Amino acid sequence: MRAEIISIGNELLSGDTLNTNTYYITRRLTELGIDVFYHTSVNDDVHILKDVIDISLRRVDLVIFTGGLGPTYDDMTKEVVSSTLGLKLILNDELKEALEDRFRKNNRKMTPNNLKQVYIPEGAKYLINEIGTAPGIFLEWNDKVIVMLPGPPKEMKTMFDKYVIPLIKQDNIIEEKIIKTIGIGESQLESAIEDIIKENKDVYIATFAKEGIVDIKIVVKGKNKDKLEKLLDDTIRKIRSRIGNYIYSYEDERIEEVVFKILKKKNMKIAFCESCTGGLIASKFTRIPGVSEVFDRALVTYSNTSKMEELNVSPDTLIKHGAVSKETAYEMAKGLMEKTGVDVALSVTGIAGPSGGSDTKPVGLVYIGICTKESSKVIESIFNGDRVSIQNRTYLKAFNELRKYLLLEC
Ligand code: AMP
Ligand code: MG
Repeated sequence: MRAEIISIGNELLSGDTLNTNTYYITRRLTELGIDVFYHTSVNDDVHILKDVIDISLRRVDLVIFTGGLGPTYDDMTKEVVSSTLGLKLILNDELKEALEDRFRKNNRKMTPNNLKQVYIPEGAKYLINEIGTAPGIFLEWNDKVIVMLPGPPKEMKTMFDKYVIPLIKQDNIIEEKIIKTIGIGESQLESAIEDIIKENKDVYIATFAKEGIVDIKIVVKGKNKDKLEKLLDDTIRKIRSRIGNYIYSYEDERIEEVVFKILKKKNMKIAFCESCTGGLIASKFTRIPGVSEVFDRALVTYSNTSKMEELNVSPDTLIKHGAVSKETAYEMAKGLMEKTGVDVALSVTGIAGPSGGSDTKPVGLVYIGICTKESSKVIESIFNGDRVSIQNRTYLKAFNELRKYLLLEC
């Protein structure tokens, strides 16, 4: 929902009164998630006011007026808005009675110009003024929301907080969704969905990158919940058709949580053996409450000896292919699975750097092995960055590969 605030009064443009109303309303709207696009201030002048009304109805969905609702000749907001929209002003009996009552109670005589305040545009709701005499107006007109509030700040604030906010909230539903991706850079992702980002002004799409994960946040705002949900679904479907391979979840959750849920659903047990990640994978996994349902154990098998002793990796394989190799990763995962009897075993072996790299095996080279009773797979990757980020990327990739493997192969 795009909003404009129009404040009316000569005193605002002569510099006699600081426009605190606009500031107040803007803050409140922002808190509600409504974007304020324009602030307009005008003199008490019929023609100027008419012009800005015309302009604002073309460019926003919510127009909030303050000022010019009182009984005097220069107060003309309601009259000009109504005539611009082609609406009649109708005398409201409840308002008339309440106003007469108020004067009677205060022992004051009501002058005829006061009656001006009890007219409201056809189809509008009036908003009670608990402090002063001029009621406010709430009007829904051709998909637009138009609100008129009195100028005195105390009257305006009380009316806005008590009556306007609840009414606006009904009309301003916000739905949002996070899509989690892995393995695609932020700029590549953005260019893949650029046209979807720009397509619809009611759909706000932003990307946030952190350490190998890029989140896509989709926010839709509007009046109709069903329409918004459809808009959100359509947007997600379009994004999925472009970059579905990189999406690991449509919930705001971590990759290891996705793997945990899949294992739980399939009633499978898992074990890890880690070389270059030194227990990071197990550490991330055990942050999940209830993980013991699927998690058997993790071994940090850093040395060649430990790989042979704990996982039964053959010395020949280590000599012929090296500790960081497809063959070793495979034997690690297979050895772990046979030793523990789990349903799926995962191994990682790699060169986290900064030293230890060579021409054929550079720093950042990592093998991830996955083994089940029926099948196995080894994935080779090369990651950039320092030791910590190579370890981090390895942990993310390991869980993402597990996720895909479990969904496709198990
Ligand atoms: P009105 O409703 O136009 O009769 O406004 C009455 C009084 O409210 C003015 O004389 C100002 O002192 C105050 N006022 C009107 N508009 C604003 C505003 N935007 N910010 C702060 N005070 C205002
Ligand atoms: Mg005024």
